[in-house]
Amino acid sequence: MEHRKRIGVLALQGDYEAHIKSIVAAGGEGFEVRTPGELATADALILPGGESTTIGYLLARFGLDKAIQAFQKPIWGTCAGMILLAKRITEGEKQGGQPLLGLLDIGVVRNAFGRQIDSFEARIETSFGPVTGVFIRAPYVSEWGPSVEVLGRYEDRVVLVRQGNILASAFHPELTEDPSLHRAFIERA
Ligand code: GLN
Repeated sequence: MEHRKRIGVLALQGDYEAHIKSIVAAGGEGFEVRTPGELATADALILPGGESTTIGYLLARFGLDKAIQAFQKPIWGTCAGMILLAKRITEGEKQGGQPLLGLLDIGVVRNAFGRQIDSFEARIETSFGPVTGVFIRAPYVSEWGPSVEVLGRYEDRVVLVRQGNILASAFHPELTEDPSLHRAFIERA
């Protein structure tokens, strides 16, 4: 029997438990990552949603920032995880003032969908087919370099991108019953 892919989920803060459930539903093995040693046993890593400022400071404290930057395997960031993967914040809150991993050549705008619609669910057309995403004080991708592929938009905003083996979504597929993005991610792991 082929070994089930071991997908680590960064578990310092945020909705990591929901990702672990989605990984299992998609046929993988999900486990919590809090140390560089745990990261080293993963076939791929998910950076969950939560509060990107908090997670960024905790990454440095746990020595995980450098370990993630050196991790050569697939990484997927959702929402706050997308912000952490970005090179820069281009507008508004915390521009230039919070620690980022800088692994994706993108700029993001945080909390970009306005107060009236802090949280909503939407059907998004993506290169993996249509998926349902939950947006919670979500960012969007405001700039991207030539090596970044745009894989999905919501209205006119870029919300799903890939650069090499790094994937980022502004929304939370782990808060829906639809495991299709998790399945696509695990297949690449
Ligand atoms: N607004 C959060 C941030 O900027 C992200 C929200 C989320 O991950 N759902 O970090």
